[in-house]
Amino acid sequence: MASIFSRIIAGEIPCYKVAEDEHNFAFLDINPVAKGHTLVIPKHEVDYIFDLPKDEYDSLMSFAKKVAEGMKKVMPCKKIGVAVLGLEVPHAHVHLIPINKESDMNFFKGKLSLPAEEMTEIAQKIADAIK
Ligand code: 5GP
Repeated sequence: MASIFSRIIAGEIPCYKVAEDEHNFAFLDINPVAKGHTLVIPKHEVDYIFDLPKDEYDSLMSFAKKVAEGMKKVMPCKKIGVAVLGLEVPHAHVHLIPINKESDMNFFKGKLSLPAEEMTEIAQKIADAIK
């Protein structure tokens, strides 16, 4: 069965899309640890990121860099933190999180639940900054 993220790429499940290229896709995490928390995924469904063929891994990371650069322009933060966990969804994904301090990367603290209008606005702002 297709992963929930493959179903998002296919448009079967809605998301707040940030960017897309031939091989990769970026969208807001539905339960962000910080405003602008974005997931970057390969379209090729592979569970463990380091099982991706090298060219696909390189493509994913180059795409993540482009997305992070866009995020940095429009989300007030010191840096964009990067994390790979993958314990919940078995489809490789890179977390990109606007951070000002170490604890902003804490996945155990309460996650945010932002109104749809704000999520739409954030996704659009990042999308525009990537173009
Ligand atoms: P991980 O697998 O890296 O531990 O966490 C998976 C991440 O995917 C979590 O941060 C969770 O909030 C996010 N997530 C899970 N399901 C969905 C979904 O249907 N849509 C979106 N946008 N994010 C999701």
